[in-house]
Amino acid sequence: MSLPTFLERYGTEAQCRDALRQMRWPGGFRCPHCGHAGYCQLRGHPVLQCNRCKRQVSLTAGTLFARTHLPLRIG
Ligand SMILES: [Zn+2]
Repeated sequence: MSLPTFLERYGTEAQCRDALRQMRWPGGFRCPHCGHAGYCQLRGHPVLQCNRCKRQVSLTAGTLFARTHLPLRIG
């Protein structure tokens, strides 16, 4: 899927985040640091914060967004 197609399909911030999260963790979020499944989302950032170790996990790292200069539609 191309990036423009992606943005067209997932036009809102919430939709972008949901789509990215499902791409990275098709079976549900798992913290890459401690394996915990609980998280919260930080406002205005494409980042999830683990509820156990409190580390932040980027939604865009390792996805097509990481190599582009296009921002997510945030704010
Ligand atoms: Zn963790």
